[in-house]
Amino acid sequence: MAEVKLDSVSKVYPNKVKAVDDFNLTAHDGEFLVLVGPSGCGKTTTLRMIAGLEEITSGSLRIGGKLANDLEPKDRSVAMVFQNYALYPHMKVFDNMAFGLRARKTSESEVKVRVLEVAEKLGLNELLDRKPAALSGGQRQRVAFGRAIARRPAVFLMDEPLSNLDARLRVTMRRELAILHRELGTTTIYVTHDQVEAMTLGDRVCVMNEGVIRQVGTPKEVYDHPVDRFVGEFLGSPSMNFLEGEKTDRDVDSCFATGDFVLPLRQHLKKVPSGKTILGARPEDFSLASSENMDSRDGLLEGTLEVLEDVGEARLLHIRVTDSLLVAKVTERPDLEVGSKVSLTVDSERCHLFDPDTGKNLSV
Ligand code: ATP
Repeated sequence: MAEVKLDSVSKVYPNKVKAVDDFNLTAHDGEFLVLVGPSGCGKTTTLRMIAGLEEITSGSLRIGGKLANDLEPKDRSVAMVFQNYALYPHMKVFDNMAFGLRARKTSESEVKVRVLEVAEKLGLNELLDRKPAALSGGQRQRVAFGRAIARRPAVFLMDEPLSNLDARLRVTMRRELAILHRELGTTTIYVTHDQVEAMTLGDRVCVMNEGVIRQVGTPKEVYDHPVDRFVGEFLGSPSMNFLEGEKTDRDVDSCFATGDFVLPLRQHLKKVPSGKTILGARPEDFSLASSENMDSRDGLLEGTLEVLEDVGEARLLHIRVTDSLLVAKVTERPDLEVGSKVSLTVDSERCHLFDPDTGKNLSV
């Protein structure tokens, strides 16, 4: 096991694209660190630089305390798992899993012990004589994990390893990966654009955009306290809602106001300076107004129901409020008709206020 430390690492491709810009990031020994961000934000480039498949333009990379910028990939004690499995089609499962060990001149008796041990762990024993073409997608991905695990590297690098699997299998494999990580305790850097994978697998999550780190923290930290509008919007599905308005301080009460909507603000939002601002509220922070919470019109948001989606455990209400379309995720189930007026309340304790110019979260 090993720590992976990137200091001021940048990558500029020959076509002048700056894919990674001044990255400072440490994956601690034994940690499961997830790099997450939209397409093209530099996740794969970062992983490939750590693997030694891509040259580092500037900055330093240390693996287990040792400067690794110029080490050959085979000398880095890292094993990479790819989205497309990258199995050798002409080799049987056993030989695919043995490949990395044999390349490192491991004795055949040791190869056998290690491959069988990993095959047992991953439930691949029955498949060792098959070739990849005779395996399902999930089985192929399991072989790819097995090949990486058999090598016993200090670090696993995983590039969207589950994204070719169907939704159901993804959930199963996610659980298996989490259990494997708990058992093996190997430092893992995992790339995904799927924020559910990021939130469920990561000890910590590094949210990236346009080659830059926006925030690093535990899944709960980045979800509950996003440093800016980008992070707030990227994590969570459906996305956080944003309402442009103004923070006012009437007498002793602080409020957020836009049109007829006036939301009294709780403690953490009171300290935000008065003036133009953007309120961020997650879909699950809304509730349908009821006789219990309708005592005061303050905090009551009214709009027209445009779309209603039933997702089983909850309903997603797409509500037009003047020129904004908000999405509320509610568990209440009264009869609602598309086109009718809907009243919502929002939990201001969980809301955020963002700077309209910089996008910075003013309430963290
Ligand atoms: P995705 O989720 O789509 O895989 P990503 O976050 O992994 O995206 P990268 O593949 O690292 O992003 O790409 C980052 C940027 O670098 C993009 O603008 C991409 O077009 C560019 N890029 C990637 N590889 C090369 C290359 N070999 N030559 C030039 N530019 C590249």
